[in-house]
Amino acid sequence: MKVFKFGGASINSIERIKNVGDIISKHSNEKLLVVISAMGKTTNALEKVVEAFFEGRKEDALQLFEQVKESHLNVLKYLTVVNWKAAQDQLRDFFTEVEWLLQDKPVRSFDYYYDQVVCVGELMSTAMISHYFTEEKIKHKWIDVRDIIRTDSNFRDAAIDWRYTEQKVKEEIEPLFASYDIVLTQGFIGSTDENESTTLGREGSDYSAAIFANLLTADSLTIWKDVEAVMSADPKAYKNAAIIPALSFTEVIEMAYYGAQVIHPKTIKPLQNKNIPLYVKSFIDPSLPGTTISRQPTKNLPPIIVDKEKQVLIQFRSKDFSFVEDKPIHQLHELFNKIKIKPNLSQNTAISLLCCFDDKAEKIEKLAEEAAQLFDVSLEKNLRLLTIRHYDEDTIRTLTTGKVIVLEQKTGETVQMVMR
Ligand code: ASP
Ligand code: MG
Repeated sequence: MKVFKFGGASINSIERIKNVGDIISKHSNEKLLVVISAMGKTTNALEKVVEAFFEGRKEDALQLFEQVKESHLNVLKYLTVVNWKAAQDQLRDFFTEVEWLLQDKPVRSFDYYYDQVVCVGELMSTAMISHYFTEEKIKHKWIDVRDIIRTDSNFRDAAIDWRYTEQKVKEEIEPLFASYDIVLTQGFIGSTDENESTTLGREGSDYSAAIFANLLTADSLTIWKDVEAVMSADPKAYKNAAIIPALSFTEVIEMAYYGAQVIHPKTIKPLQNKNIPLYVKSFIDPSLPGTTISRQPTKNLPPIIVDKEKQVLIQFRSKDFSFVEDKPIHQLHELFNKIKIKPNLSQNTAISLLCCFDDKAEKIEKLAEEAAQLFDVSLEKNLRLLTIRHYDEDTIRTLTTGKVIVLEQKTGETVQMVMR
């Protein structure tokens, strides 16, 4: 039993959806649980719908949703013939659910509405693909994952109820494999005990796939991506970016911590706990070996580069030149929590604390304003935060030539530099 996950980019055109069908057909002698996310940039488009709705711009919301509907119906036309009517009916049911909601006035939290609307992205994509599979005689079972994955009601960042979900997987998913080789379902979404839809955080489909892999004790999880493998840097920005054939779970957690956009950070734990290997493979050329992520410790890794742009460095300085001690630091961290902002790097000096953040304008403004009651606050924008794991002097030199380093932190394995 294996778990496959296909992300938005793997199904963003008719050809690519067909390609997913081809990949799955090539594994016809295996039991597969297939997790798929929303088509292309659908989640972003649905976010716009919710924003308009919540700001009271009902007509805009409906209009924006109309575009999402059309783009899906358009793709559907080319995927199905015999099943076209049934497929369209199923999509229309999802549309109606959203449109009903958009007709009302918002009375609950933004995050609640977000989840109710955004979840249709994956429901629509998987329903379409399911009808396409039926058309292609790829025998499978489509499941609404909201009947399986139970979460709390922390909308937009819901936490899994592992016990309930495990029981559901045992009772409802496992028996399906007696009659079907392929079970097809959605990533990223779940539901509360009151049947409200929830989401697991942006890019959460990887995590959904890992949850299934864990609960089904799968042989492996394969995440199909539009890259050849995990790379040591963004190949668009670094011509020396190299393919990394093997990585340990711990290394991937470290990379994600520093901001590498390899895999959703929550994905690793459920796999690591059950020693389930994760393969990152190219859906464009499945014959390429990709990257294997496992418990196996990795040696001789190349320098791994994580480059974060749009950084802001804030200095919090004690007003009376006294030492910055536990209490004010604690207050500051409480403030970070309240604003939901996390420093990417921080450093103490005797009378100040320096923190580097992603420059999310609204949050930064609020932070600066509130922190000013406790500290003298100064900030510098338009910086870059460069992290190099397994650094060597050559790499540091190449990447910092001509730059001004404003702040630097080095450990045996990792160097981080905030640069102007
Ligand atoms: N569709 C969701 C997103 O774009 C979840 C995912 O793709 O993993 O964030
Ligand atoms: Mg994605």
